[in-house]
Amino acid sequence: MKEHVVSSFDVDHRTLDAGLYLRSVYNINDEYAVRSWDLRFRAPMSHSPLGSGEVHTIEHLMAYYLRLDEHIGKSIVSFCPMGCKTGFYLSTMQDVEAEDVRQALARVYKQVFPLRSTDDIVGLNEIQCGNPGLYSIDSTNAAMADYMRTLFTVDEAAQLGIGSVYEKWW
Ligand SMILES: [Zn+2]
Repeated sequence: MKEHVVSSFDVDHRTLDAGLYLRSVYNINDEYAVRSWDLRFRAPMSHSPLGSGEVHTIEHLMAYYLRLDEHIGKSIVSFCPMGCKTGFYLSTMQDVEAEDVRQALARVYKQVFPLRSTDDIVGLNEIQCGNPGLYSIDSTNAAMADYMRTLFTVDEAAQLGIGSVYEKWW
């Protein structure tokens, strides 16, 4: 049997919805298990990928603020955009569960969003970034609120203090 190196290709992307998925567990040097989470913002094949400005803005914010999260921050390996621009990969150590990721995303959302100006986008400068002119405020706010609605019901969002994702549609 042919061995698949990139296990994302094992998933039928025609039937995948937006959501949060555990995609793979990689055993690094047979010693460290790293979990790869699929933060799928947009359903594949729906022909509505994120814009480049949204991808870049979310990458900056999540890569930074998830690492500062009180519960999962120390277990984060990386946060990277998917080249197809339908979502992001979050890699964590083995102690992080799906619900931990979901709750951490709500905490970051509450802390950071909605964005008001480029001052809210950490690291967006010529020293720390390869393309600081590539960002978006309004459509990133819309994309993040949209993803939060995918992950949380109205009641859950209200309890977590992010009920605005249902109250205001950007
Ligand atoms: Zn950048």
